[in-house]
Amino acid sequence: MEDSLKCNFCGRRRNEITFLISGVNGHICNFCIEKTYSIIHRKFSAEKEKKNIEEKKTIRIKKPKEIKKFLDKYVIGQNEAKKVISVAVYNHYKRIIVSCNKEENNDVEIEKSNILLIGNTGTGKTLLAKSISKLLKIPFTIADATALTEAGYVGEDVESILTRLLQSANYDVSSAEKGIVFIDEIDKISRKKNNPSITRDVSGEGVQQALLKILEGSIINVPPQGGRKHPDQKMIPINTENILFIAGGTFDGIENIISDRIHQFSIGFINHNKKNKNEKNFLKNITAHDLRKFGLIPELIGRFPIITHLNSLDKIMLKKILIEPKNALIKQYKKLFDLDKISINVTDEVLDIIIEKTLELGLGARGLRFFCEKIFVDYMFDIEEINKNQILNIDKEIVIKKFNDL
Ligand code: ADP
Repeated sequence: MEDSLKCNFCGRRRNEITFLISGVNGHICNFCIEKTYSIIHRKFSAEKEKKNIEEKKTIRIKKPKEIKKFLDKYVIGQNEAKKVISVAVYNHYKRIIVSCNKEENNDVEIEKSNILLIGNTGTGKTLLAKSISKLLKIPFTIADATALTEAGYVGEDVESILTRLLQSANYDVSSAEKGIVFIDEIDKISRKKNNPSITRDVSGEGVQQALLKILEGSIINVPPQGGRKHPDQKMIPINTENILFIAGGTFDGIENIISDRIHQFSIGFINHNKKNKNEKNFLKNITAHDLRKFGLIPELIGRFPIITHLNSLDKIMLKKILIEPKNALIKQYKKLFDLDKISINVTDEVLDIIIEKTLELGLGARGLRFFCEKIFVDYMFDIEEINKNQILNIDKEIVIKKFNDL
């Protein structure tokens, strides 16, 4: 009886198949299940791909002014950088749309707009990149260039950057392929001076070379669990063509390279340009030539067609950073106390002291957090002893005393 059973789809008999599933009026064999599954899967994949392309075509691109206005909510000052980034992001999205309509626009190919941000530590480079990803609601990841090494050496392979992007996109490949990667400390992988040619520069030039392949649009096989700990994992191919790379670095000492170049250029002319010699903010004159002299290889510089700088923060900017942006530090502390039903009042004098100390520390706006923590930690520890019906005045004398002890 068992052997007379057969698949009602293909007619195979029980002894020709591995298993047979019974339904109300018939049976289906493992071959037919596999076949129908693959038909359905193929159809769904094709539909998903079509939907992705349609989505890309209908992205509403925000205009540069709209992008800058959004950035203004989070980032204080840095108007030049915000302007350049707003235009770059705007063009990046136009480029994605053109690449989706290849058949119609095959004459001009728009180049990728990867951005290089140069500026002192704590001036807002990471914040700018993060804010852009927030605006566009796309996956974002930060990679530290100093942790990378050439494949096969101790350290992280460059593919690990894409693993993290994939993870931040919840393994949605098509969404990761439109994400933003911020590569921090790009200046720290500059070519080592006096590096003897027999030893390989695996953490400098070697990494720059390795980065090239992910920066230009290409298909990279990415280990979904990250590098070397899981050698058997199945690689996921990721197309980096529409991933926006933003790199940041302090490039310590590059001002001297720029000023030397400008100075040399100006003595070549009979009419000396004195203004140039007195120019303090040399960064705004930075060129690819200066970056090359600093130690970046020309191919890498070529992958970052957009170069802009961030200014050092002065007292006025630091004060604004403390109180104005959407997530300003003082707003955050007020909220924290608010949750304990305590209102706090931070006087202008206290803000000025925090700013003075921050400037002395020389870590840009990063110092603000450090000094705020020093002030607020004791108040927070003693939270139960604070009277909930009164406004808590952050005392200038106490703050001065605390900082004198540092
Ligand atoms: P970096 O330039 O070293 O990447 P970050 O962007 O990480 O600096 O900034 C460090 C901290 O300082 C962050 O908490 C950021 O919010 C704050 N910050 C730095 N610059 C600005 C700025 N221009 N406007 C607002 N906040 C800033």
